[in-house]
Amino acid sequence: MTLHYALTCPVCGWQGADDGLALGCPRSHAPGLLQTSYTRREFTPRPQTDGMFRYQDWLPVRRTVPDAGSAVVYPATRLGAALGLPDLWVSFSGYWPERGARLETATFKELEAYCVLGRLPEDPPTLVVASVGNTAAAFARLCSRYALPCVIVVPETGVERLEFTEPLAPCVRLLALEGADYAETIAYADALALRMGGQVEGGTRNVARRAGLGTVWLSAVEAMPRPADVYVQAVGSAAGAIAVHEAAARLVRAGASECPPRLMLCQNAEYAPLYDAWCAERDDAVPDAGERPEEAAERCLADELTNARPPYAVAGGVRDCLTGSHGRMLLAGREDALAAGALFAEVEGVDIEPASAVALAGLRRAAQDRTITPDESVLLNITGGGRGHMRRRLQPTRAAHIHRVRRAERSSDSFSRDLLHHCEAAQAPTRA
Ligand SMILES: [Zn+2]
Repeated sequence: MTLHYALTCPVCGWQGADDGLALGCPRSHAPGLLQTSYTRREFTPRPQTDGMFRYQDWLPVRRTVPDAGSAVVYPATRLGAALGLPDLWVSFSGYWPERGARLETATFKELEAYCVLGRLPEDPPTLVVASVGNTAAAFARLCSRYALPCVIVVPETGVERLEFTEPLAPCVRLLALEGADYAETIAYADALALRMGGQVEGGTRNVARRAGLGTVWLSAVEAMPRPADVYVQAVGSAAGAIAVHEAAARLVRAGASECPPRLMLCQNAEYAPLYDAWCAERDDAVPDAGERPEEAAERCLADELTNARPPYAVAGGVRDCLTGSHGRMLLAGREDALAAGALFAEVEGVDIEPASAVALAGLRRAAQDRTITPDESVLLNITGGGRGHMRRRLQPTRAAHIHRVRRAERSSDSFSRDLLHHCEAAQAPTRA
């Protein structure tokens, strides 16, 4: 099958066909995030297609997924008035049907999942996804709906986010790790994928995940009279911000805009490895020695932003995107973020996720100190919202079958027969 895109390596210039699974350059050298180059250079949304696959000419996919959602972009006039920013626009990813937003897992992680599913080869190996919660919920929902085998691995603390409006298909297997943090969850998922011949999903390294998030910018460019000057988002791994920068650079090359937006990226003031690395001009994002991110997470309003090893100094990573866009990092403390979340609910009429509240608090501060000026057009990415609205209306329930992996079982180097049996059952429906 000839695809409409190829993979390229930003480090060595390698270019090659995509097998739907690759997460890195086949040559060995310093790490870099693979890029995609598309046959179509011009920006050609397909007006007859709803949802994010209207941008399929610029997505690394071999199929589209029916009924896919997308980010909804609208002029936030009242919120802008409250902040003193008359040209403020919101990109909303979540559940808010009154605005046309229908992502039932309530965050932009669902956009990533749609694109990763569209990229998979025919008859794919079992996808193994490690996540603290929102990504897990998005992949579980979509793999269930489209009958794709997957194993979702979460720390025990992420179980509460695994709630769904319909029962999950048997091709989706859920594992909860007792006492694990995020890094341990990823390591466990890697080992499990190797043992059972599955494929780790890959996070930021997966070109499809970033392309899915990049559709936020494409939707905004379609909706706005001209592309925004400033882009504001809360970041943990910063995959969304990297994706937006990549999409914006592609639009510049296509002649559809003059320059990428200034990235203004916000973290919890209580734990901010990206902010610290940027301000100290360090070569890597490493948090203060001795502090475990899950301890920091307890102090932060948005614990999903407490990624201790974001792709900062890697080629094409956060540092390159901030430098290339003349951007900067922002901070927002817990109290400011809580107040921002309340402001959004009051003015716009829907609840937003803690990470979105952090972004809004950072924007509010930047408007106050004139880091962003009233003459600039601003796109605020509300990366998740409407969860409360969705719960009241759709009444989701906790996933019925979650296999718990005890700490003792996890620390041994082998996987029990029970556990492998549980995971391998994911393949059954598609092989039948
Ligand atoms: Zn390379």
